[in-house]
Amino acid sequence: MLDQAHILIIDDDPMIRFLVAKALQAIGLRTTEAASGEQGLTLFEQYGAQAVLLDVMMPGGMDGFNTCAKLRQLPDNQHIPILMMTGLEDLDSINRAFEAGATDFITKPINIALLGHRVRYMLKASHTTNRLLESERRLHRMAYFDNLTELPNRQFFREYLQHMIALAQRQKCKMAVLFLDLDGFKRINDTLGHHAGDQILQEASERLRKSLRASDLFARTGRTEEGNSLARLGGDEFTVLLSTISRNEDAAAVAERIRINLSQPLILGSHELYITSSIGIAIYPDDGDSGEDLLKNADLAMYHAKRDGANIYRYFSNRMTEAAVHRFNLENHLRKALEHSELELHYQPLFDLAIKRFSGVEALLRWKNPELGQISPAEFIPLAEETGLIINIGSWVLNQACRQAVAWIKQGLSLKRMAVNISTMQLLHKSFPALVEKILTETGLEPSILELELTESALIFDEDTVLDVLLSLKKIGVQLAIDDFGTGYSSLSRLKNFPIDRLKIDQSFIRDIGQTSDNGAIAVAVIAMAESMNMQVTCEGVETEDQLTFLKKKHCNEVQGYLLSRPLPSVQAQAFLLGAVHRD
Ligand code: C2E
Ligand code: MG
Ligand code: MG
Repeated sequence: MLDQAHILIIDDDPMIRFLVAKALQAIGLRTTEAASGEQGLTLFEQYGAQAVLLDVMMPGGMDGFNTCAKLRQLPDNQHIPILMMTGLEDLDSINRAFEAGATDFITKPINIALLGHRVRYMLKASHTTNRLLESERRLHRMAYFDNLTELPNRQFFREYLQHMIALAQRQKCKMAVLFLDLDGFKRINDTLGHHAGDQILQEASERLRKSLRASDLFARTGRTEEGNSLARLGGDEFTVLLSTISRNEDAAAVAERIRINLSQPLILGSHELYITSSIGIAIYPDDGDSGEDLLKNADLAMYHAKRDGANIYRYFSNRMTEAAVHRFNLENHLRKALEHSELELHYQPLFDLAIKRFSGVEALLRWKNPELGQISPAEFIPLAEETGLIINIGSWVLNQACRQAVAWIKQGLSLKRMAVNISTMQLLHKSFPALVEKILTETGLEPSILELELTESALIFDEDTVLDVLLSLKKIGVQLAIDDFGTGYSSLSRLKNFPIDRLKIDQSFIRDIGQTSDNGAIAVAVIAMAESMNMQVTCEGVETEDQLTFLKKKHCNEVQGYLLSRPLPSVQAQAFLLGAVHRD
């Protein structure tokens, strides 16, 4: 690479140009000659050069000092070696040469034999310097900036936050850290593809910049004049530092501006998208005096904003920490619950009103942890869903329930139905029907005995996708029920599009049957409509004889509740089913 280097020789003396060119060509370098400063500049601009040899004393306005200074002013020309050739040996002119930007100088008369070495050495040194400078620049950008959005990255934000905290400590001022996450970004990314995802992130960054921009300076330095900063932490997470707020409420104004700017429609190809954001706010020094704490607490507040419905901001509060510590603890234990055999199934008998028999059971998951004790499914099932743990736990439940059903049938129990709760995430997880089929084959359970209880929320997803899954399940031969019916968004008319065998009316509609008439009326209406759609109806949460009498009269098919039996551990459930097949 060095061998092909191209050297520009600028000297008004043709003899010197000739000698120098010959000497450099002899060691394999290419040369171009210019007879004046002006010509030298033009040639440099046209062809460039890896080094310049420049005579100091040239006639006219453009002497060597001038030419050198002009060369240095050209873009990207800070580091190309310029060797000044001078007959002036006084200190002053040497100083002037360096001031004008010369790399080195050589005195006339030129020692031609030495010149080649000198130039080679200079080229080598400059090559190394350039490479170092370039990689240093690249490293700096990589270390502190995000490629996609050109915003500062997590590392930058961390260090900058630390720096600003030190300042705020001395000046006794308040700051706010905003933690921002785009709502539903993952889903958009998965459906529209990563390219679209990238464009959304870029557009979001631009809107964030605009929301914060106090001057153009911000775009270049990553800081606004007041010292505010914006960064992309990774994924769809962004942070903002407001380095001078006088009251905690000031942060809300900025958060609100950001929220509104981000929620404006975004055109992406033929799609018009609405991207909203959830924002958490932590205040220095109230909510933490280290960068780590502030970020963590703002993140936690963001999580609460999401949980409270998204597209809003939330301030951090200490209560959030307690809840988060508890959740964290719970999650860690839940991760190990399966391998530590802490999970167990209980079975609640289902009473068939037509034949007056207990004809089936619903499998209900129980978790007992040595440290935390018994934890309610209402608490750990949502956590298992959020963390994805429900996939493994859910297959364990399915397996266990089918195994139990087969065992009971083998022992002579006339079990007509084993109902198992299925989370939406499980249902839509890849090849769920294949999993069901595999478990049925492995355990040897007759498919029609297995009933899968889905939630209404499963039906609000993309209709074609859900329908596909449900039809595959029906092909396998299992029964499908909608659990907690009436609490979700699905309407009976929408329900018609899906192959559903049974509705389970939520206990809240049963609870005050006979007290206020409204709920009774809803239950009755659902029973009638289900009948017209050829679906079975189960009423959950039957606790009193009054409720039971009422439901019998209204032709409900099946009841489930504490009045008949609580959910029971396997051994007791077996005894119950053996002893109490009949009831009036
Ligand atoms: P669910 O599927 O609606 O189950 C019925 C819930 O009502 C059970 O609560 C049961 O113990 C309770 N229950 C039954 N009869 C009565 C009654 O007469 N009065 C009252 N007040 N409650 C009654 P549990 O076992 O705490 O389960 C709560 C929820 O957790 C279940 O509601 C279900 O959605 C979910 N769940 C339980 N096991 C599993 C599982 O294996 N997988 C999944 N995905 N979810 C499960
Ligand atoms: Mg259920
Ligand atoms: Mg239910």
